[in-house]
Amino acid sequence: LSLDATFEQSEDNLRSPICCIMGHVDAGKTKLLDCIRGTNVQGGEAGGITQQIGATYLPAEKIRERTKPDATLKVPGLLVIDTPGHESFANLRSRGSGLCDIAILVVDIKCGLEQQTIESLNLLKMQNTKFIIALNKVDRLFGWKKCPNAPIKKALKQQSEDVLNEFNIRLTQIITQFKEQGLNRELYYTSKKMGETFSIVPTSAISGEGIPDLLLLLVQWTQKTMVEKLTYSNEVQCTVLEVKVVEGHGTTIDVIFVNGVLHEGDQIVGPIVTTIRALLTPHPMEELRVKGTYLRHNEVTASMVIKITAKGLQHAIAGTSLYVVRPDHDLEDVKEAAMADMKAVMRRIDRS
Ligand code: GDP
Repeated sequence: LSLDATFEQSEDNLRSPICCIMGHVDAGKTKLLDCIRGTNVQGGEAGGITQQIGATYLPAEKIRERTKPDATLKVPGLLVIDTPGHESFANLRSRGSGLCDIAILVVDIKCGLEQQTIESLNLLKMQNTKFIIALNKVDRLFGWKKCPNAPIKKALKQQSEDVLNEFNIRLTQIITQFKEQGLNRELYYTSKKMGETFSIVPTSAISGEGIPDLLLLLVQWTQKTMVEKLTYSNEVQCTVLEVKVVEGHGTTIDVIFVNGVLHEGDQIVGPIVTTIRALLTPHPMEELRVKGTYLRHNEVTASMVIKITAKGLQHAIAGTSLYVVRPDHDLEDVKEAAMADMKAVMRRIDRS
């Protein structure tokens, strides 16, 4: 698996979209990610979780395996960010404008819209983030016949009339609840038009029905409607998530790398000027927070969550942007930009 795609600005070579996953507690956010990755973080595999924000990179090949072998994917993959509690999501957003390109809002089909669903909705509206609704736990409809990992239309065809009746009643109720929130939402496949209106995807995080649909819709929607945002830029856009000491590496920083390309040896500017010693990522499909080994890269293209090792990182500050000095840049200008950004972050921290 290569994460080192070539850097070229074109509509057919886009960066990976960044997707956040939100919803009421117990709606199945973690389980859904587990189902996509083939892991068991929800069941306690992540004994080593040390931080709030999780991230998983899903390479295009893996998405293809789960969807259609002939799916046209113009993005190298999908970066899924998992923020328990929406406070961290709000922080994440305030750290880097436009950090999440799209969100998955998980709704339990048996519970409908709950308090935190509505809070998530309000955040998404406020930040003008487009989202797909995973109408989760369809396997809990009474009498559901499991069709592991099947596309949802195929799975629904296998169900009895009673199951379909219950499905339709609950779906209608939830559509009404969305209307009460001022949102017009329908099953995604009732129209070929891609967009906000047609964005409900029924899923099961246990048996995997609807997961192919969810992944395909995420990729196709973003690569079709967000070309400008997803085009590679020459400027690196990167936000520090966490500063921490890692055995064998000294003080490292975890960053959300939103756009551009990074190399080992690049000169970076935060509160200090230093040089990237190593660019590390978790293995694809593995969760950043689960302790494991890292892959080392000469070059990484966005989007990705990466760990950077370098001298002097103990002075880095979470929430600030990382600037990269390119040959045509003036170091003093870059330092000035970094300083201004740091002051803005400090003011935000003071206020909260
Ligand atoms: P989170 O709080 O949103 O991250 O929810 P979890 O992923 O921890 O799931 C909460 C509970 O619901 C767990 O016991 C899961 O096993 C269960 N669960 C999640 N998704 C599904 C699903 O699609 N079907 C069924 N039957 N149970 C699910």
